[in-house]
Amino acid sequence: MQHAQWQTLIAQFAKLSRRQRLECMELLRGMPCGQVSIALIERTAQARLCCPACQSRHFHRHGHANDLQRYRCVLCGKTFNALTGTPLAHLHHKSLWLDYANCLLNSDSVRKAAQQLGIHRNTSFRWRHRFLALAKTDRPRCLHGIVEADEMYLLESEKGARHLLRPARRRGGHARQRGISSEQVCILVARDRTGQTIDFVTGKGQLTKKHLLYCLPRVIDRDILLVTDGHAAYAAFARETGISHQAVNLHAGFRVRGAAHVQNVNAYHSRLRGWLSIFHGVATDALPAELPGVALDTRRQAHPVR
Ligand SMILES: [Zn+2]
Repeated sequence: MQHAQWQTLIAQFAKLSRRQRLECMELLRGMPCGQVSIALIERTAQARLCCPACQSRHFHRHGHANDLQRYRCVLCGKTFNALTGTPLAHLHHKSLWLDYANCLLNSDSVRKAAQQLGIHRNTSFRWRHRFLALAKTDRPRCLHGIVEADEMYLLESEKGARHLLRPARRRGGHARQRGISSEQVCILVARDRTGQTIDFVTGKGQLTKKHLLYCLPRVIDRDILLVTDGHAAYAAFARETGISHQAVNLHAGFRVRGAAHVQNVNAYHSRLRGWLSIFHGVATDALPAELPGVALDTRRQAHPVR
């Protein structure tokens, strides 16, 4: 390669996403294109690999199956691979997964992604929901330091449901009632200043102290400073748990008070909204509800794409 071409190429490295960098590294290691996703799966799983049946780390290699290294547990004798017990287990065409992840990041529709990759639309639908289920398992254990928390609301959606109890909306539509009502599904997002983020689908309607008591204590340090807007539920939650709390009065125009602001969590909300907006609504039952007994909707059909 000419020196000038090389300079142009390396100048573009800075624009690569983390996933694209990993992909490049595998290609440089001499991996054929189709094998890159499989190598990534194996390498990512290495650190946390253990027997899914008995959690033992005492296992040995036991041949290959479905493109992946198979292992056999010495204690219980069960076999497993890097994907056993994850939402991606038993899915085929692994060599297309990285491209599919890209479609997902671009908010491509189920059909568009299927066309681009030459897979069936039902496969595309299944992959979408399994990939999203996997993302849900990749969460930080605990938030530290200054933790911003804020809630956002998505319009409840029965996309894919066979029997609607109300007139259908078009392209996501609008709520019939003003303000927050049972037509909206609440998503609570908590984010610390290192960027670790945890979200919870608390259910339909307003966020309450009960929701916060259920969701937050198990994922935050006791000595955090909780920064939120003026919603009364946060203050009540902080009083009950003895957690330091600072409210930023957004209505009075105070967006930032020293280190106390909710700009990071709000930026996260707007990125999430932007990503979701292209889908024209998300089926509410596809949102993983956090609280026990919050059955958001179970009427979605098994094969929704026709
Ligand atoms: Zn075992």
